[in-house]
Amino acid sequence: MRHIVLLGSTGSIGTQTLDVIRHQPECAKVEALAAGGGRIPLLEEQTREFMPRLVAVYDEKAAADLRVRLQDTPVRVVSGMAGLLEACAMEEADMVVTAMVGMIGLEPTVEAIRRHKTIALANKETLVCAGALIMRMAQEEGVQILPVDSEHSAIFQCLDGRGPETVRRILLTASGGPFRGWTWEQLVPVRPEQALKHPNWSMGAKITIDSATMMNKGLEMIEAKWLFGVRPEQIEVVVHPQSIVHSAVEFTNGSVIAQMGVPDMRLPIQEALEYPVRGALTVEPLDLFQKSPLTFEKPDEEVFRSIRLAREALIKGGLYPAVFNAANEKAVAEFLAGTIGFTEIFSRVEEALERYDALPHPDVYTLEDVLEIGRSI
Ligand code: NAD
Ligand code: MG
Repeated sequence: MRHIVLLGSTGSIGTQTLDVIRHQPECAKVEALAAGGGRIPLLEEQTREFMPRLVAVYDEKAAADLRVRLQDTPVRVVSGMAGLLEACAMEEADMVVTAMVGMIGLEPTVEAIRRHKTIALANKETLVCAGALIMRMAQEEGVQILPVDSEHSAIFQCLDGRGPETVRRILLTASGGPFRGWTWEQLVPVRPEQALKHPNWSMGAKITIDSATMMNKGLEMIEAKWLFGVRPEQIEVVVHPQSIVHSAVEFTNGSVIAQMGVPDMRLPIQEALEYPVRGALTVEPLDLFQKSPLTFEKPDEEVFRSIRLAREALIKGGLYPAVFNAANEKAVAEFLAGTIGFTEIFSRVEEALERYDALPHPDVYTLEDVLEIGRSI
């Protein structure tokens, strides 16, 4: 049984993680919950149901509110970044599920690795921003990183322990999002409420916008490079609108292994929590007769420049991926706030990458260098 700290428990991945544990209580015990500060009534409910030792709330006021609500329980409520770090350092925990959104997850992830916790990684922005640093630390500390992102969980399962020398290509699948097949002119007037409707997945607002721009696939290309040690040119994006094949690996001898399943994030979450065990069914079983036909096409990189921009950032290396991510985080927040248009998300990221002056030794950077990128964009 895993003893977990769940960062981002009130979000889409967080609530689905708790649902997996509700169905499979033998797979994990919740030692701590953490969230940003919204949805405090839900966080109270989760605390009463799972009775963790500790709850960390980033926002001080929200933490004070929760403390009052939980007065009749023995649960300790802590706040701020210090609170998140305290949760990640808990002796009782052996795994940290990183399900918070954005590069704010960087410091807690680093702390969890330092404290030798296995990482179940959903928070892809962290790995995109600081892949070299995180992977080096994980290796030095002997910490395993188990992917939760469905594509990376698929690749991890296909590889089944084999190294990058056995891989010819990674076939990273993408649903194509709600605007698959649209022209640039059609994308210009897109409003947040249109972009917030995803055909196959129900997710948090930021990743739903990232799926609509396909920035999510760009982030996932970078995530794949770090998790699996492949070169940028070995990662091919394949549009697969049905979201049944979650990704595939083509090996050097031409054999291709794909992983399939219903599009339900509880499956890759369960995979990470139980690894290497395969436990009981939580999601609906896959009915291939219902899902047929499965189709595959090339992405339109002229319209969805995100894929090209991510590849460029990946090839340039160093902190270019951090710039790519930070500019995207900021642009998505502005789009959701209604201050910039949909297609401006692409130009904001493009301009930030053009403006950035790389460090003299691009792969030697510190946590502080990455945080500075976040502040300066
Ligand atoms: P969400 O917006 O639904 O939830 C985000 C969670 O992060 C919330 O619990 C929120 O309280 C917490 N949070 C925000 N700021 C915080 C802070 N400063 N301190 C502590 N907690 C904070 O997001 P989501 O869709 O669940 O996505 C979470 C992560 O998982 C993202 O990195 C996303 O890219 C990744 N991911 C999500 C899905 C999905 O299906 N939703 C799939 C693959 C990967
Ligand atoms: Mg994904």
